[in-house]
Amino acid sequence: MTRSRGAAVVGAGPNGLAAAVTLARAGLPVTVFEAAESIGGGARTDEAVEPGVLHDVCSAIHPMALATGFFRAFELERRMGFAIPEASYANPLDGAAGGGAARAAVAYRSLDRTAEELGRDGAAYARLYRPLLSRLEGVVDFALGGSMLRWPGDPVAAAATGLRALEQGSPLWNLRFRESAAPALISGVAAHSVGRMPGVAAAAVGTVLGALGHASGWPVPIGGSRAITDALAADLLAHGGRVETSRAITDVRELDGFSVKLFDTSARGLVRIAGSVLPARYRRALGRLRYGDAAAKVDFVLDGPIPWSDGRVSAAPTVHLGGSRAEVAAAELEVARGRHPEWPYVLLAQTADFDPDRNPAGANAVWSYTHVPRGSARDVSAAVIAQIERFAPGFRDRVRGYRVTTAAQLAGYNRNYHGGDFCAGAVTVRQLLARPVAAADPWRTPAKGIYLCSSSTSPGPGVHGLSGWYAARSALRREYGLPSPELGAGQ
Ligand SMILES: Cc1cc2nc3c(=O)[nH]c(=O)nc-3n(C[C@H](O)[C@H](O)[C@H](O)COP(=O)(O)OP(=O)(O)OC[C@H]3O[C@@H](n4cnc5c(N)ncnc54)[C@H](O)[C@@H]3O)c2cc1C
Repeated sequence: MTRSRGAAVVGAGPNGLAAAVTLARAGLPVTVFEAAESIGGGARTDEAVEPGVLHDVCSAIHPMALATGFFRAFELERRMGFAIPEASYANPLDGAAGGGAARAAVAYRSLDRTAEELGRDGAAYARLYRPLLSRLEGVVDFALGGSMLRWPGDPVAAAATGLRALEQGSPLWNLRFRESAAPALISGVAAHSVGRMPGVAAAAVGTVLGALGHASGWPVPIGGSRAITDALAADLLAHGGRVETSRAITDVRELDGFSVKLFDTSARGLVRIAGSVLPARYRRALGRLRYGDAAAKVDFVLDGPIPWSDGRVSAAPTVHLGGSRAEVAAAELEVARGRHPEWPYVLLAQTADFDPDRNPAGANAVWSYTHVPRGSARDVSAAVIAQIERFAPGFRDRVRGYRVTTAAQLAGYNRNYHGGDFCAGAVTVRQLLARPVAAADPWRTPAKGIYLCSSSTSPGPGVHGLSGWYAARSALRREYGLPSPELGAGQ
């Protein structure tokens, strides 16, 4: 084997591109191989629903774009535009569940304003988040700073996060609250993680994303998620990297000649491609990574804004639909039992409202998905429309076109999404600690020069680039004795 061809990265999702940028910045020749026709993985945007109207194909919501290590080092904010709305997310409620007049709970960047609008539960809600906001760096470092099997940099922040996850992940989750709005707001975020609730892993995810919502906000990328991909690709090319699209790697021997190989594939994908050079024990460990339930999407083009019953919901780019905490938990339980809920939890992004150039005159792009059992081929549009209509009567009449993507189609679209599991491995406590294996350096495999850098590794799903960054830094250190390079926009 020769070192002349440098590093290969298999997969051009956010993690693969983050890895490639890091390696290229360190001076290595880098080639990225992407199976699809275009780069971006879960950060792509297209015009397939209606020409000229931009829809994010997978991710649309970016709580981690400004606040986490890789994108901060990369200075993403200096390379592209973001709208940072005053409201991060909202949770519409039926009148009664809202506690009388309140028809929605809204999480603003301002914790005080959020608490004020939550009424009787406002103080209890603020007590949940305030200690996290005063130590946000430590919270982010604990949750996203690397393997969870390390001593946290800020043990107080880690303890505060952990205790809140334990509380909100336990059957005692309602103890501090008297009404429905605050718990619904918290559960709407926790449910991003897919799975039974209450659950500690979901609560941990919800705690961290919620804290970000009350701090840096949930920014909306101008131009859609693909703008993040474009920023990464531009930097890679500027530092000598190459990208080959429509090039699926099926056997590690295709990469002979590259001294280092990083795989932005699922753990299962790595076994398929590189099983012949991985020790049997490690292969079995990767095989134990459990995959979770799935997403099914409905992207809409409306001919106007969504007619929310509570107009405050329009202020939030992200909307969690499902009603009360109990209803969302019931819907998630149905999915965990392999059924399609009649009233599903729906994640809706009305991000185009904050980035008007995504819409030609008169059109309004709305993105949504719901959770379904793994492998589902069901068209969920009727249930999703009914759930939106519940909180925005008249929505149905504004729909002038929509596209359904079933979980089975998502699995075909991206080979990392087994059965439509867009997390590339379920988010469970065990798999937060050991992702994909219990190790201080979970990105490194026992095979020389082979690394896993996808969301099957710590810190898990989301557009943050962290898995790629950590894997690349590990490879630079171990294979070349090189330090982590500067990534800033000016360098
Ligand atoms: C419907 C949906 C909604 C989502 N919403 C959000 C959201 O709002 N916010 C958020 O932060 N995250 C969201 N996510 C999750 C997020 O998109 C992923 O966690 C993230 O993209 C993972 O990045 P990655 O680089 O690890 O993998 P991916 O983005 O999946 O990229 C992997 C890439 O590798 C390629 N590949 C795989 N195998 C091979 C091979 N053998 N050869 C060559 N190429 C290969 C794939 O084609 C793909 O392009 C969503 C995902 C989906 C599907």
